[in-house]
Amino acid sequence: MADDAMLKFVGRTQSYPDKRPADLRAEDFREIAERYAVPDAEAQAGRCSQCGVPYCSVHCPLHNHIPDWLRLTAEGRLREAYQLSNSTSTMPEICGRICPQDRLCEGNCVIEFSGHGAVTIGSVEKFITDTAWEQGWVEPVHVGAATGQSVGIIGAGPAGLSAAEYLRTAGHDVHVYDRHDRAGGLLTYGIPGFKLEKEIVMRRVARLEEAGIVFHCGFEVGRDASLDDLRARHDSILIATGVYKARGIKAPGVGAGGVVEALEYLTASNRKGFGDAVPAYDDGSLNAAGKHVVVVGGGDTAMDCVRTAIRQGAASVKCLYRRDRANMPGSQREVGNAEEEGVEFVWLSAPEAFDGGDTVSGVRAARMRLGAPDASGRRAPEIDPGSGFQLPADLVIKALGFEAEDLPTLFGAPSLGVTRWGTVRADGKTMMTSLDGVFAAGDIVRGASLVVWAIRDGRDVAAHMHAWMRARADAAVRAA
Ligand code: FAD
Ligand code: SF4
Ligand code: SF4
Repeated sequence: MADDAMLKFVGRTQSYPDKRPADLRAEDFREIAERYAVPDAEAQAGRCSQCGVPYCSVHCPLHNHIPDWLRLTAEGRLREAYQLSNSTSTMPEICGRICPQDRLCEGNCVIEFSGHGAVTIGSVEKFITDTAWEQGWVEPVHVGAATGQSVGIIGAGPAGLSAAEYLRTAGHDVHVYDRHDRAGGLLTYGIPGFKLEKEIVMRRVARLEEAGIVFHCGFEVGRDASLDDLRARHDSILIATGVYKARGIKAPGVGAGGVVEALEYLTASNRKGFGDAVPAYDDGSLNAAGKHVVVVGGGDTAMDCVRTAIRQGAASVKCLYRRDRANMPGSQREVGNAEEEGVEFVWLSAPEAFDGGDTVSGVRAARMRLGAPDASGRRAPEIDPGSGFQLPADLVIKALGFEAEDLPTLFGAPSLGVTRWGTVRADGKTMMTSLDGVFAAGDIVRGASLVVWAIRDGRDVAAHMHAWMRARADAAVRAA
Protein backbone atom coordinates (compact mmCIF):
# COMPACT_ATOMS: atom_id res chain seq x y z
CA MET A 1 0.00 0.00 0.00
CA ALA A 2 2.74 2.41 1.06
CA ASP A 3 4.74 1.67 -2.07
CA ASP A 4 1.69 2.39 -4.20
CA ALA A 5 1.20 5.83 -2.73
CA MET A 6 4.85 6.86 -2.46
CA LEU A 7 7.97 7.55 -4.56
CA LYS A 8 6.06 9.54 -7.16
CA PHE A 9 8.69 12.27 -7.48
CA VAL A 10 9.77 11.35 -11.01
CA GLY A 11 6.41 11.71 -12.71
CA ARG A 12 4.75 14.21 -10.36
CA THR A 13 6.11 17.74 -10.27
CA GLN A 14 6.62 19.76 -7.14
CA SER A 15 3.68 22.07 -6.47
CA TYR A 16 3.31 24.50 -3.56
CA PRO A 17 -0.15 25.84 -2.68
CA ASP A 18 -1.00 28.82 -4.91
CA LYS A 19 -0.12 32.28 -3.68
CA ARG A 20 -2.79 34.96 -3.88
CA PRO A 21 -2.03 37.57 -6.59
CA ALA A 22 0.46 40.18 -5.35
CA ASP A 23 -1.86 43.15 -5.90
CA LEU A 24 -4.66 41.52 -3.90
CA ARG A 25 -2.49 40.33 -1.02
CA ALA A 26 -0.93 43.78 -0.69
CA GLU A 27 -4.37 45.05 0.31
CA ASP A 28 -4.67 43.04 3.54
CA PHE A 29 -2.71 41.26 6.25
CA ARG A 30 -4.04 37.78 5.54
CA GLU A 31 -1.62 34.95 4.79
CA ILE A 32 -0.51 34.94 1.18
CA ALA A 33 -0.66 31.19 0.48
CA GLU A 34 -3.87 29.30 -0.22
CA ARG A 35 -4.42 25.89 1.43
CA TYR A 36 -3.87 22.58 -0.35
CA ALA A 37 -7.04 20.79 -1.38
CA VAL A 38 -7.00 17.26 0.08
CA PRO A 39 -6.02 15.48 -3.19
CA ASP A 40 -3.16 17.93 -3.75
CA ALA A 41 -1.76 17.42 -0.25
CA GLU A 42 -1.95 13.64 -0.71
CA ALA A 43 -0.32 13.84 -4.12
CA GLN A 44 2.53 16.08 -2.95
CA ALA A 45 3.16 13.91 0.13
CA GLY A 46 3.34 10.90 -2.20
CA ARG A 47 6.40 12.37 -3.94
CA CYS A 48 8.56 11.40 -0.93
CA SER A 49 11.05 8.64 -1.66
CA GLN A 50 10.90 7.31 1.94
CA CYS A 51 14.63 7.58 2.51
CA GLY A 52 16.23 5.10 4.89
CA VAL A 53 18.25 7.97 6.35
CA PRO A 54 15.88 10.93 5.99
CA TYR A 55 18.04 14.05 5.77
CA CYS A 56 14.88 16.15 6.02
CA SER A 57 14.39 14.92 9.61
CA VAL A 58 18.08 15.20 10.44
CA HIS A 59 17.98 18.88 9.50
CA CYS A 60 14.65 19.62 11.19
CA PRO A 61 15.52 21.00 14.65
CA LEU A 62 12.63 18.97 16.10
CA HIS A 63 13.65 15.81 14.22
CA ASN A 64 10.05 15.46 13.12
CA HIS A 65 9.04 12.04 11.74
CA ILE A 66 8.65 13.58 8.30
CA PRO A 67 8.68 10.52 5.97
CA ASP A 68 6.21 8.73 8.23
CA TRP A 69 3.64 11.51 8.34
CA LEU A 70 4.10 12.12 4.62
CA ARG A 71 3.28 8.46 3.99
CA LEU A 72 0.20 8.60 6.24
CA THR A 73 -0.96 11.73 4.42
CA ALA A 74 -0.44 10.15 1.01
CA GLU A 75 -2.50 7.15 2.17
CA GLY A 76 -5.34 9.42 3.34
CA ARG A 77 -4.73 8.57 7.01
CA LEU A 78 -4.73 12.21 8.05
CA ARG A 79 -5.71 11.77 11.66
CA GLU A 80 -2.78 9.42 12.25
CA ALA A 81 -0.53 11.82 10.36
CA TYR A 82 -1.63 14.57 12.74
CA GLN A 83 -0.99 12.44 15.83
CA LEU A 84 2.51 11.61 14.69
CA SER A 85 3.32 15.17 13.68
CA ASN A 86 1.97 16.45 17.00
CA SER A 87 4.09 13.97 18.97
CA THR A 88 7.30 15.92 18.36
CA SER A 89 6.03 19.51 18.10
CA THR A 90 3.80 21.81 20.12
CA MET A 91 3.08 24.00 17.07
CA PRO A 92 3.39 22.06 13.77
CA GLU A 93 1.00 24.35 11.89
CA ILE A 94 3.09 27.36 12.93
CA CYS A 95 6.39 25.79 11.85
CA GLY A 96 4.77 24.70 8.58
CA ARG A 97 4.02 28.37 7.94
CA ILE A 98 7.16 30.20 9.07
CA CYS A 99 10.15 27.88 9.21
CA PRO A 100 12.74 28.76 6.57
CA GLN A 101 12.23 25.32 5.02
CA ASP A 102 14.67 26.08 2.22
CA ARG A 103 17.45 26.09 4.83
CA LEU A 104 16.10 23.22 6.98
CA CYS A 105 13.97 20.21 5.99
CA GLU A 106 13.25 21.00 2.33
CA GLY A 107 16.73 22.32 1.65
CA ASN A 108 18.07 18.90 2.64
CA CYS A 109 15.49 16.71 0.91
CA VAL A 110 17.31 14.22 -1.34
CA ILE A 111 14.98 14.71 -4.28
CA GLU A 112 15.91 18.40 -4.25
CA PHE A 113 19.51 17.32 -4.83
CA SER A 114 18.49 14.94 -7.60
CA GLY A 115 16.91 17.89 -9.42
CA HIS A 116 13.25 16.94 -8.91
CA GLY A 117 12.39 19.70 -6.42
CA ALA A 118 12.02 18.99 -2.68
CA VAL A 119 8.91 17.49 -1.19
CA THR A 120 6.78 20.45 -0.02
CA ILE A 121 7.20 19.39 3.61
CA GLY A 122 6.22 22.65 5.33
CA SER A 123 3.01 23.07 3.33
CA VAL A 124 1.98 19.47 4.05
CA GLU A 125 2.78 19.90 7.77
CA LYS A 126 0.60 23.02 7.89
CA PHE A 127 -2.18 21.24 6.01
CA ILE A 128 -2.18 18.27 8.42
CA THR A 129 -2.60 20.29 11.61
CA ASP A 130 -4.94 22.91 10.12
CA THR A 131 -7.15 19.98 9.14
CA ALA A 132 -6.85 18.53 12.65
CA TRP A 133 -8.07 21.80 14.19
CA GLU A 134 -11.00 21.94 11.76
CA GLN A 135 -11.95 18.33 12.38
CA GLY A 136 -11.71 18.66 16.17
CA TRP A 137 -8.84 16.16 16.42
CA VAL A 138 -6.66 18.52 18.43
CA GLU A 139 -7.15 17.27 21.96
CA PRO A 140 -6.86 19.23 25.19
CA VAL A 141 -3.49 19.04 26.92
CA HIS A 142 -3.40 15.80 28.96
CA VAL A 143 -2.56 17.08 32.42
CA GLY A 144 -0.57 14.51 34.42
CA ALA A 145 -1.13 13.57 38.06
CA ALA A 146 -0.46 16.62 40.23
CA THR A 147 3.13 16.77 41.50
CA GLY A 148 2.42 19.57 43.97
CA GLN A 149 5.36 21.47 42.44
CA SER A 150 5.19 24.81 40.74
CA VAL A 151 7.08 26.35 37.83
CA GLY A 152 7.41 30.03 36.91
CA ILE A 153 8.11 30.78 33.26
CA ILE A 154 9.25 34.27 32.28
CA GLY A 155 8.31 34.90 28.66
CA ALA A 156 5.32 33.61 26.69
CA GLY A 157 7.07 33.20 23.33
CA PRO A 158 7.40 29.84 21.59
CA ALA A 159 10.12 28.66 24.01
CA GLY A 160 8.09 29.52 27.11
CA LEU A 161 4.80 28.21 25.69
CA SER A 162 6.32 24.90 24.60
CA ALA A 163 7.96 24.36 27.98
CA ALA A 164 4.66 25.28 29.68
CA GLU A 165 2.77 22.62 27.71
CA TYR A 166 5.24 19.83 28.51
CA LEU A 167 5.55 20.80 32.18
CA ARG A 168 1.78 20.91 32.60
CA THR A 169 1.57 17.50 30.94
CA ALA A 170 4.01 16.30 33.60
CA GLY A 171 1.57 17.47 36.30
CA HIS A 172 3.22 20.67 37.54
CA ASP A 173 1.44 23.92 38.32
CA VAL A 174 2.60 26.31 35.62
CA HIS A 175 2.59 30.12 35.76
CA VAL A 176 3.70 32.14 32.73
CA TYR A 177 4.71 35.80 33.19
CA ASP A 178 4.89 38.16 30.23
CA ARG A 179 5.28 41.92 30.00
CA HIS A 180 2.95 42.10 27.02
CA ASP A 181 -0.83 42.05 27.35
CA ARG A 182 -1.09 38.97 25.10
CA ALA A 183 0.93 35.77 25.08
CA GLY A 184 2.86 34.51 22.03
CA GLY A 185 6.01 36.67 22.10
CA LEU A 186 7.23 37.46 18.59
CA LEU A 187 4.58 35.10 17.14
CA THR A 188 2.00 37.64 18.31
CA TYR A 189 3.67 41.05 18.11
CA GLY A 190 6.71 40.60 15.81
CA ILE A 191 5.77 38.37 12.88
CA PRO A 192 3.08 39.98 10.68
CA GLY A 193 -0.26 38.38 9.88
CA PHE A 194 0.62 37.84 6.21
CA LYS A 195 3.12 35.19 7.41
CA LEU A 196 1.16 33.96 10.43
CA GLU A 197 -2.45 34.92 11.09
CA LYS A 198 -2.99 35.74 14.73
CA GLU A 199 -5.91 33.37 15.34
CA ILE A 200 -3.45 30.51 14.75
CA VAL A 201 -1.37 31.69 17.71
CA MET A 202 -4.30 32.64 19.93
CA ARG A 203 -5.96 29.22 19.64
CA ARG A 204 -2.72 27.61 20.86
CA VAL A 205 -2.64 30.01 23.84
CA ALA A 206 -6.32 29.32 24.61
CA ARG A 207 -5.64 25.57 24.65
CA LEU A 208 -2.89 26.11 27.24
CA GLU A 209 -5.18 28.30 29.37
CA GLU A 210 -7.85 25.60 29.23
CA ALA A 211 -5.25 23.17 30.61
CA GLY A 212 -4.93 25.30 33.74
CA ILE A 213 -1.72 27.12 32.83
CA VAL A 214 -1.96 30.51 34.51
CA PHE A 215 -0.93 33.50 32.38
CA HIS A 216 0.16 36.69 34.16
CA CYS A 217 0.12 39.14 31.26
CA GLY A 218 1.28 42.73 31.69
CA PHE A 219 3.73 41.42 34.30
CA GLU A 220 7.30 42.56 33.76
CA VAL A 221 9.98 40.81 35.72
CA GLY A 222 12.33 43.54 36.92
CA ARG A 223 9.44 45.98 37.35
CA ASP A 224 6.66 43.97 38.99
CA ALA A 225 8.89 41.42 40.73
CA SER A 226 12.56 40.56 40.94
CA LEU A 227 13.90 37.19 39.88
CA ASP A 228 14.36 36.30 43.57
CA ASP A 229 10.68 37.11 44.27
CA LEU A 230 9.70 34.56 41.62
CA ARG A 231 12.21 31.99 42.90
CA ALA A 232 10.52 32.25 46.29
CA ARG A 233 7.11 31.59 44.68
CA HIS A 234 8.07 28.58 42.53
CA ASP A 235 10.11 25.38 42.74
CA SER A 236 11.91 26.22 39.53
CA ILE A 237 12.09 29.06 37.03
CA LEU A 238 12.54 29.26 33.27
CA ILE A 239 13.92 32.40 31.67
CA ALA A 240 12.60 32.55 28.08
CA THR A 241 12.57 36.28 27.50
CA GLY A 242 13.94 36.47 23.96
CA VAL A 243 16.25 39.25 22.75
CA TYR A 244 14.92 42.79 22.41
CA LYS A 245 17.79 45.31 22.44
CA ALA A 246 17.74 46.74 18.93
CA ARG A 247 21.13 47.22 17.23
CA GLY A 248 21.62 50.90 16.40
CA ILE A 249 22.97 52.91 13.48
CA LYS A 250 25.71 55.44 14.17
CA ALA A 251 25.03 58.19 11.65
CA PRO A 252 24.23 61.92 11.84
CA GLY A 253 20.49 62.62 12.06
CA VAL A 254 19.56 59.14 13.32
CA GLY A 255 17.61 60.75 16.19
CA ALA A 256 15.28 62.67 13.82
CA GLY A 257 11.52 62.17 13.92
CA GLY A 258 10.43 59.53 11.45
CA VAL A 259 13.47 57.29 12.09
CA VAL A 260 11.92 54.40 14.02
CA GLU A 261 12.73 50.95 15.41
CA ALA A 262 11.52 47.93 13.44
CA LEU A 263 9.90 46.14 16.36
CA GLU A 264 7.97 49.23 17.49
CA TYR A 265 6.72 49.59 13.95
CA LEU A 266 5.72 45.91 13.59
CA THR A 267 4.16 45.78 17.05
CA ALA A 268 2.00 48.81 16.28
CA SER A 269 0.84 47.19 13.05
CA ASN A 270 0.07 43.87 14.75
CA ARG A 271 -1.82 45.67 17.51
CA LYS A 272 -3.97 47.45 14.90
CA GLY A 273 -4.72 44.01 13.49
CA PHE A 274 -6.09 43.01 16.89
CA GLY A 275 -8.25 46.18 16.88
CA ASP A 276 -6.28 47.86 19.70
CA ALA A 277 -6.03 51.64 20.07
CA VAL A 278 -2.50 52.56 18.96
CA PRO A 279 -1.97 56.35 19.21
CA ALA A 280 1.46 56.24 17.51
CA TYR A 281 -0.13 54.50 14.53
CA ASP A 282 -3.16 56.77 14.42
CA ASP A 283 -1.06 59.98 14.57
CA GLY A 284 1.03 58.67 11.63
CA SER A 285 4.37 58.18 13.39
CA LEU A 286 4.27 54.38 13.03
CA ASN A 287 2.14 54.25 9.89
CA ALA A 288 3.62 54.15 6.39
CA ALA A 289 0.46 55.31 4.55
CA GLY A 290 1.36 57.75 1.77
CA LYS A 291 5.05 57.87 2.78
CA HIS A 292 8.35 57.20 1.08
CA VAL A 293 9.73 54.42 3.26
CA VAL A 294 13.33 53.25 3.55
CA VAL A 295 14.02 50.12 5.58
CA VAL A 296 17.63 49.55 6.61
CA GLY A 297 18.64 45.88 7.01
CA GLY A 298 18.55 42.54 5.20
CA GLY A 299 17.14 40.01 7.66
CA ASP A 300 13.69 38.57 8.31
CA THR A 301 12.71 41.64 10.34
CA ALA A 302 13.55 43.97 7.44
CA MET A 303 11.52 41.77 5.06
CA ASP A 304 8.54 41.95 7.42
CA CYS A 305 8.85 45.75 7.63
CA VAL A 306 8.98 46.37 3.87
CA ARG A 307 5.97 44.12 3.26
CA THR A 308 4.03 45.73 6.11
CA ALA A 309 4.73 49.18 4.65
CA ILE A 310 3.35 48.06 1.26
CA ARG A 311 0.14 46.89 2.96
CA GLN A 312 -0.21 50.19 4.83
CA GLY A 313 -0.25 52.04 1.49
CA ALA A 314 3.27 53.54 1.35
CA ALA A 315 4.05 55.74 -1.68
CA SER A 316 7.31 53.83 -2.18
CA VAL A 317 9.25 51.20 -0.24
CA LYS A 318 13.00 50.65 -0.56
CA CYS A 319 15.17 48.21 1.31
CA LEU A 320 18.75 49.33 1.84
CA TYR A 321 21.19 46.49 2.51
CA ARG A 322 24.99 46.64 2.71
CA ARG A 323 25.67 43.25 1.11
CA ASP A 324 24.22 41.74 -2.06
CA ARG A 325 21.30 39.42 -2.56
CA ALA A 326 23.40 36.26 -2.29
CA ASN A 327 24.88 37.36 1.03
CA MET A 328 21.78 38.54 2.86
CA PRO A 329 20.59 36.74 6.00
CA GLY A 330 16.88 36.96 5.16
CA SER A 331 15.04 34.21 3.30
CA GLN A 332 15.24 34.35 -0.52
CA ARG A 333 11.61 33.28 -0.60
CA GLU A 334 10.66 36.40 1.36
CA VAL A 335 12.73 38.65 -0.94
CA GLY A 336 10.82 37.19 -3.87
CA ASN A 337 7.49 37.83 -2.15
CA ALA A 338 8.53 41.40 -1.34
CA GLU A 339 9.60 42.10 -4.93
CA GLU A 340 6.32 40.75 -6.27
CA GLU A 341 4.51 43.13 -3.93
CA GLY A 342 6.44 46.19 -5.17
CA VAL A 343 9.44 46.56 -2.84
CA GLU A 344 12.64 47.87 -4.41
CA PHE A 345 15.91 46.43 -3.07
CA VAL A 346 18.94 48.71 -3.07
CA TRP A 347 21.75 46.19 -2.64
CA LEU A 348 25.31 47.02 -1.55
CA SER A 349 24.25 50.27 0.11
CA ALA A 350 24.49 51.64 3.64
CA PRO A 351 23.17 54.84 5.25
CA GLU A 352 25.71 57.57 6.05
CA ALA A 353 23.36 60.29 7.32
CA PHE A 354 19.70 61.18 7.70
CA ASP A 355 18.66 64.57 6.32
CA GLY A 356 15.89 66.88 7.41
CA GLY A 357 16.55 68.20 10.93
CA ASP A 358 13.68 67.45 13.33
CA THR A 359 11.86 65.23 10.86
CA VAL A 360 13.62 63.01 8.39
CA SER A 361 13.33 63.92 4.71
CA GLY A 362 15.94 61.69 3.12
CA VAL A 363 18.72 59.17 3.51
CA ARG A 364 22.24 59.81 2.30
CA ALA A 365 23.81 56.49 1.48
CA ALA A 366 27.11 55.07 0.25
CA ARG A 367 27.64 52.26 -2.20
CA MET A 368 29.44 49.26 -0.74
CA ARG A 369 31.58 46.58 -2.28
CA LEU A 370 32.34 43.17 -0.87
CA GLY A 371 35.87 42.58 0.40
CA ALA A 372 37.59 39.44 1.67
CA PRO A 373 35.57 36.89 3.68
CA ASP A 374 35.50 37.56 7.44
CA ALA A 375 35.80 34.99 10.26
CA SER A 376 32.25 33.73 9.53
CA GLY A 377 33.12 33.18 5.86
CA ARG A 378 30.85 36.02 4.67
CA ARG A 379 32.45 38.71 2.56
CA ALA A 380 32.77 41.89 4.59
CA PRO A 381 31.25 45.03 3.02
CA GLU A 382 33.42 48.13 2.66
CA ILE A 383 32.56 51.62 1.43
CA ASP A 384 33.18 52.37 -2.22
CA PRO A 385 34.70 55.89 -1.90
CA GLY A 386 32.95 58.76 -3.65
CA SER A 387 29.85 56.74 -4.42
CA GLY A 388 27.29 58.61 -2.32
CA PHE A 389 23.65 58.96 -3.37
CA GLN A 390 20.41 60.15 -1.80
CA LEU A 391 16.97 58.66 -1.35
CA PRO A 392 13.87 60.63 -0.36
CA ALA A 393 12.34 59.27 2.84
CA ASP A 394 9.75 60.38 5.35
CA LEU A 395 9.79 57.13 7.30
CA VAL A 396 13.03 55.23 7.96
CA ILE A 397 12.81 51.88 9.72
CA LYS A 398 15.92 50.50 11.41
CA ALA A 399 15.97 46.70 11.18
CA LEU A 400 19.52 45.70 12.04
CA GLY A 401 18.81 42.85 14.44
CA PHE A 402 18.53 42.35 18.16
CA GLU A 403 20.75 41.61 21.12
CA ALA A 404 20.09 40.50 24.67
CA GLU A 405 19.00 43.03 27.26
CA ASP A 406 21.06 43.31 30.44
CA LEU A 407 19.08 40.74 32.42
CA PRO A 408 21.28 40.59 35.55
CA THR A 409 20.59 44.30 36.08
CA LEU A 410 16.96 44.26 34.90
CA PHE A 411 16.11 41.24 37.07
CA GLY A 412 18.04 42.49 40.11
CA ALA A 413 20.10 39.28 39.87
CA PRO A 414 23.81 40.19 39.56
CA SER A 415 24.89 36.56 39.94
CA LEU A 416 22.93 35.41 36.87
CA GLY A 417 25.76 34.40 34.50
CA VAL A 418 25.77 35.84 30.98
CA THR A 419 28.06 35.51 27.96
CA ARG A 420 30.02 38.37 26.45
CA TRP A 421 27.09 38.92 24.10
CA GLY A 422 24.76 39.34 27.07
CA THR A 423 22.87 36.10 26.39
CA VAL A 424 22.15 33.98 29.46
CA ARG A 425 24.75 31.31 30.08
CA ALA A 426 23.08 27.91 30.43
CA ASP A 427 24.77 24.57 31.01
CA GLY A 428 24.91 22.64 27.73
CA LYS A 429 23.69 19.43 29.36
CA THR A 430 21.15 20.61 31.95
CA MET A 431 20.10 24.00 30.52
CA MET A 432 20.41 25.39 34.06
CA THR A 433 21.85 28.86 34.55
CA SER A 434 24.37 29.84 37.20
CA LEU A 435 21.44 30.02 39.67
CA ASP A 436 20.17 26.79 41.22
CA GLY A 437 16.77 25.82 39.82
CA VAL A 438 16.76 28.66 37.26
CA PHE A 439 16.82 27.40 33.67
CA ALA A 440 16.95 29.30 30.35
CA ALA A 441 15.88 28.58 26.77
CA GLY A 442 15.18 30.13 23.38
CA ASP A 443 16.65 33.32 21.93
CA ILE A 444 17.88 34.55 25.32
CA VAL A 445 20.38 31.68 25.25
CA ARG A 446 21.01 31.31 21.50
CA GLY A 447 20.78 34.95 20.45
CA ALA A 448 18.25 35.87 17.73
CA SER A 449 17.29 32.56 16.10
CA LEU A 450 14.20 30.77 14.83
CA VAL A 451 10.80 29.76 16.17
CA VAL A 452 11.50 26.07 15.57
CA TRP A 453 14.67 26.25 17.69
CA ALA A 454 12.73 27.99 20.48
CA ILE A 455 10.18 25.15 20.38
CA ARG A 456 12.96 22.57 20.50
CA ASP A 457 14.57 24.35 23.45
CA GLY A 458 11.22 24.52 25.22
CA ARG A 459 10.80 20.77 24.77
CA ASP A 460 14.32 20.01 26.02
CA VAL A 461 14.30 22.39 28.95
CA ALA A 462 10.95 21.04 30.17
CA ALA A 463 12.49 17.55 30.38
CA HIS A 464 15.49 18.90 32.33
CA MET A 465 13.30 20.92 34.69
CA HIS A 466 11.00 17.98 35.31
CA ALA A 467 13.96 15.67 36.09
CA TRP A 468 15.49 18.28 38.41
CA MET A 469 12.25 18.82 40.32
CA ARG A 470 11.60 15.10 40.62
CA ALA A 471 15.10 14.56 42.00
CA ARG A 472 14.52 17.33 44.51
CA ALA A 473 11.18 15.86 45.59
CA ASP A 474 12.77 12.41 45.95
CA ALA A 475 15.60 13.88 48.03
CA ALA A 476 13.08 15.61 50.28
CA VAL A 477 11.24 12.31 50.83
CA ARG A 478 14.49 10.52 51.67
CA ALA A 479 15.49 13.28 54.11
CA ALA A 480 12.11 13.21 55.88
P1 FAD B 1 10.19 35.59 22.10
O1 FAD B 1 9.31 35.09 21.04
O2 FAD B 1 10.90 36.87 21.87
O3 FAD B 1 9.33 35.70 23.43
C1 FAD B 1 9.88 36.25 24.60
C2 FAD B 1 8.76 36.79 25.49
O4 FAD B 1 9.34 37.22 26.71
C3 FAD B 1 8.04 38.00 24.90
O5 FAD B 1 6.65 37.78 24.90
C4 FAD B 1 8.43 39.15 25.85
O6 FAD B 1 7.36 40.07 26.01
C5 FAD B 1 8.70 38.41 27.14
N1 FAD B 1 9.58 39.14 28.05
C6 FAD B 1 10.79 39.68 27.75
N2 FAD B 1 11.30 40.26 28.86
C7 FAD B 1 10.40 40.08 29.85
C8 FAD B 1 10.36 40.47 31.24
N3 FAD B 1 11.34 41.17 31.80
N4 FAD B 1 9.28 40.11 31.97
C9 FAD B 1 8.25 39.42 31.41
N5 FAD B 1 8.25 39.04 30.11
C10 FAD B 1 9.31 39.36 29.35
N6 FAD B 1 11.63 32.96 13.14
C11 FAD B 1 11.21 32.03 12.26
O7 FAD B 1 11.43 30.84 12.49
N7 FAD B 1 10.53 32.38 11.13
C12 FAD B 1 10.22 33.67 10.86
O8 FAD B 1 9.60 33.94 9.84
C13 FAD B 1 10.63 34.66 11.78
N8 FAD B 1 10.30 35.95 11.55
C14 FAD B 1 10.67 36.88 12.48
C15 FAD B 1 10.27 38.20 12.29
C16 FAD B 1 10.60 39.17 13.21
C17 FAD B 1 10.15 40.57 12.99
C18 FAD B 1 11.40 38.83 14.33
C19 FAD B 1 11.83 39.90 15.31
C20 FAD B 1 11.80 37.54 14.54
C21 FAD B 1 11.43 36.55 13.62
N9 FAD B 1 11.78 35.22 13.81
C22 FAD B 1 11.36 34.27 12.93
C23 FAD B 1 12.54 34.79 15.01
C24 FAD B 1 11.60 34.21 16.08
O9 FAD B 1 10.46 35.02 16.21
C25 FAD B 1 12.31 34.05 17.41
O10 FAD B 1 13.48 33.27 17.21
C26 FAD B 1 11.44 33.34 18.45
O11 FAD B 1 10.22 34.02 18.63
C27 FAD B 1 12.18 33.23 19.80
O12 FAD B 1 11.31 32.68 20.75
P2 FAD B 1 11.50 32.96 22.30
O13 FAD B 1 10.38 32.25 22.99
O14 FAD B 1 12.88 32.65 22.71
O15 FAD B 1 11.34 34.54 22.49
FE1 SF4 C 1 10.50 21.57 8.34
FE2 SF4 C 1 10.27 23.31 10.34
FE3 SF4 C 1 8.45 21.43 10.03
FE4 SF4 C 1 10.90 20.78 10.84
S1 SF4 C 1 9.41 22.02 11.96
S2 SF4 C 1 9.65 19.73 9.31
S3 SF4 C 1 12.13 22.28 9.73
S4 SF4 C 1 8.85 23.08 8.59
FE1 SF4 D 1 11.15 12.11 1.73
FE2 SF4 D 1 12.85 14.09 1.03
FE3 SF4 D 1 12.72 13.27 3.53
FE4 SF4 D 1 13.77 11.66 1.69
S1 SF4 D 1 14.60 13.62 2.37
S2 SF4 D 1 12.36 11.09 3.34
S3 SF4 D 1 12.48 12.22 -0.07
S4 SF4 D 1 11.06 14.25 2.40
